[in-house]
Amino acid sequence: MRYGVFSDVHGNLEALKAVLGHFESEGVDAHLCCGDLVGYGPDPEACLGLIRSLKGLSVVGGNHDLAVAGRMDLEWFNPYARTAAIWTRAHLSRQALDFLEGLPLRVETSDWTMVHGSPRKPPEEYLLSPAQFQDCRSYVKAWPLFMGHSHMPLAFRSSAAGTDVVFLGDREESAAMEGGVPAPAAFNPGSVGQPRDHDPRASCGVYDTKTRVFRIARLSYDYRLVQGKIREAGLPEYLALRLEYGQ
Ligand code: ZN
Repeated sequence: MRYGVFSDVHGNLEALKAVLGHFESEGVDAHLCCGDLVGYGPDPEACLGLIRSLKGLSVVGGNHDLAVAGRMDLEWFNPYARTAAIWTRAHLSRQALDFLEGLPLRVETSDWTMVHGSPRKPPEEYLLSPAQFQDCRSYVKAWPLFMGHSHMPLAFRSSAAGTDVVFLGDREESAAMEGGVPAPAAFNPGSVGQPRDHDPRASCGVYDTKTRVFRIARLSYDYRLVQGKIREAGLPEYLALRLEYGQ
């Protein structure tokens, strides 16, 4: 089974199309979306439509999805995120809002687990350090764990030798077995619509359950077109600029 894993689309339709084109050329069997489908970007409705049509889709809600749906307080957001969440809510259909309202915070199967941020506090906590990963291990039943939220392509691995975190950039990493069972590992595919690792290309991953390899792909897209749409929509200028710098 090969999964197309993606996260933090944030209403960026051009970046999403690049990623879905990659998944199609890879012939993935199913899709895992780790949340934050909307917020920041100018095309929330179109992105939701495309994501919902994907085959074998499993999806969790991110903090932006919850805020737009009225399930999380906007007080926690910075001014850019707050402005964008209010704009997004005003530009979504009732049907789209109902979909966001119904999103689960965690999906668990016998082969993997998926959350937006961390398994301990799914929509809010950023999983970034080895110590934190080790501390969160008891909240996961089936490895690997897939998550997003930090907008950084990362791999976490734990074994008897210790715990480490690897910045993936555009590389691959594999999940190890230990004593016949999957060793704790977590993969973050980075962000489709607003990468923050100083590489403006859209980020996503493909996970193969047979080889246990998670491979990141970085895809160029027309971010200038998205910048134009952000400006036309009257969203904050910073949201347009950051796409160019990947931050
Ligand atoms: Zn996000």
